[in-house]
Amino acid sequence: MILNKKEKEKYKVKLLEKKKEITEKLSETYNVSKEVETGIAQDVVDKAESSYTKEFLLSLSDAERRQLLMIDEALKRIEKCEYGICLMCGQKISKKRLDAVPWTPYCINDQEKAEEETP
Ligand SMILES: [Zn+2]
Repeated sequence: MILNKKEKEKYKVKLLEKKKEITEKLSETYNVSKEVETGIAQDVVDKAESSYTKEFLLSLSDAERRQLLMIDEALKRIEKCEYGICLMCGQKISKKRLDAVPWTPYCINDQEKAEEETP
């Protein structure tokens, strides 16, 4: 999907907000220091080498960890202009779906398939 600049910004903001929401909720729960919290908000994946961050990531539930990673992947796809394309079939993901689940890498049909395959 070719997003215009405004749409690109919109989804980016949505994704960053969701990311912040998760990391903030978790840092409250686990009492993570401000410094580490900022680092995590910046880039969960890149900073995962540090043991502190690893501990933090381990303290997340699987669902939250998966969601954070999906958000990061979606942000990368926005930068590469690949956002909104289903990773499985290469078709456009509907805007309605992206508005509801901005981090999704799959169209609605493949999402169902992906879920079935998950043990
Ligand atoms: Zn698809």
